[in-house]
Amino acid sequence: MALHHGSTSSPPSRRRSSNAVVTDANPALGQRPEPPKGRLADGPVLPDVAYQLIHDELLLDGSARLNLATFVTTWMEPQARQLMTDCVDKNIIDKDEYPQTAELERRCVAILADLWHAPDPERATGCSTTGSSEACMLAGLALKRRWAARVDDTARRPNLVMGTNVQVCWEKFCRYWDVEPRFVPMQGERLHLGAEQAVALCDQDTIGVVTILGSTFDGSYEPVAEVAAALDELAAAGGPDVPIHVDGASGAMVAPFLDPDLVWDFRLERVASVNTSGHKYGLVYPGVGWVLWRDSEALPRDLVFDVNYLGGNMPTFALNFSRPGAEVVAQYYTFFRLGRSGFRAVQQACRDVATYLSGRIGEMPEFRLVSRGDELPVFAFTTTDQVQGWDVFALSRTLRERGWQVPAYTFPADRQDLAVLRVVCRNGFGHDLAEVFLGHLRAAVEQLDTDARAGTASGPSGFHH
Ligand SMILES: *Cc1c(COP(=O)(O)O)cnc(C)c1O
Repeated sequence: MALHHGSTSSPPSRRRSSNAVVTDANPALGQRPEPPKGRLADGPVLPDVAYQLIHDELLLDGSARLNLATFVTTWMEPQARQLMTDCVDKNIIDKDEYPQTAELERRCVAILADLWHAPDPERATGCSTTGSSEACMLAGLALKRRWAARVDDTARRPNLVMGTNVQVCWEKFCRYWDVEPRFVPMQGERLHLGAEQAVALCDQDTIGVVTILGSTFDGSYEPVAEVAAALDELAAAGGPDVPIHVDGASGAMVAPFLDPDLVWDFRLERVASVNTSGHKYGLVYPGVGWVLWRDSEALPRDLVFDVNYLGGNMPTFALNFSRPGAEVVAQYYTFFRLGRSGFRAVQQACRDVATYLSGRIGEMPEFRLVSRGDELPVFAFTTTDQVQGWDVFALSRTLRERGWQVPAYTFPADRQDLAVLRVVCRNGFGHDLAEVFLGHLRAAVEQLDTDARAGTASGPSGFHH
């Protein structure tokens, strides 16, 4: 969410007299009251008028379905929408008023504990959040609190080890909670955290290592089991005993269905906590996330607050107090509706589209694949030496002319030389749309080549191979 400053440059409208109640304006007849830009108008307008004008203004937003940039769900079944509408007035913190919503949240946590192989699902604890960012803050806080209890020395400064490819929420966590971030840079073809490099940064004040399933930069899974084994060795040799948090914002809802043999979750003793975004591959509209701890020792009790619940107390751990309950209900709907095989089918379809699309793009002489979409259904590709006079940024702009949102960006340290385009395949982006996209991609490449030959390319973009 952008941090907005003050009013826009245009002065506040004073077109209507102070006590006019606009009951006669009809946008269809060209009577358009001005929507407020910086201060409230003096009086109301009719609901249809407000609806129509805001609806019209929102047409300027891109089409969510053509947005290949976001990981967040852009399509749900009408029945899920209906349930969300049914629950739009429910505040999830009011456990006493809405005990059944609380029960659905409990069931979701139990389902995730089972899915992520918590050793004793009865002892696993967890909660819903607004998304993975809040979930990561909570998981980080628990790690920090455990470290503080262990060292019992306020003069020492905690640190957190992670790859430079972490999502910004981890930098935020470190800044907000005064933890030193220790980043493992990328190196050559290693575009995420390496086990050896992570262990090398750990010391007695390391609160944890964050591993990502999978990286937002290229969709790759980080080697959680290798990191766990390396940390086991470190502890066995008398070094610090460092827990792992798995940031499974996307992958924790993909790997259980498509890669059941990949060991990344609570099967690894060192994994203390796992988060996911219900609103990414959990297939729910924004915003819902989840975080689970393997057992109650992993979540220090003094972080937990009790809220009133049917005359008793219910433990909660959250940054927010009030929050909508509808997304949690929608998450329960997707679990009930799809079951294991349904989830597998949806995620496999995404992976099939991703690997098909990356395959076709990899065949084009202009491109080289950085990843294939066979872990997260997400892949990145860059240009080859054959490309002259344009770059990934120009291609991203050209695709935008057709409505496609495909982000172009450079990788973090030490691969800032690598600039890519990234495609995120989600439920609702099927083979038909993928074909249309391929056609538009080829047309965009032709147009850029033609423009470059004619010397009309849109100027240098500051990007060099
Ligand atoms: C998206 C993402 C986040 C942040 O999640 P939100 O649900 O958007 O708050 C954190 N980590 C990773 C790896 C992500 O992909």
